[in-house]
Amino acid sequence: MFKKFIASSKTFSYFETTIDISNINDIQEIIDIFKTLLASFFANHNLIYLKEECLKAKWHIHDYNTVEDIKNEVKDIYICDHC
Ligand SMILES: [Zn+2]
Repeated sequence: MFKKFIASSKTFSYFETTIDISNINDIQEIIDIFKTLLASFFANHNLIYLKEECLKAKWHIHDYNTVEDIKNEVKDIYICDHC
């Protein structure tokens, strides 16, 4: 099951990526994958400061308690780092 995740962030807003969440068991796993994909994008383009900022950011998802809640959501999911 593929779902779109979008950054909500002072620096990274509107970055978006699709993640297969079929075999994912907790929300932290989704956040880790999202963070890794964004950091890899910067690393691939040698944007080392942006990569560091991305890895340091305190990413979290509002309003959903379980991966099931996210699977049941029809809308795209925002991953936030600025509150
Ligand atoms: Zn937030």
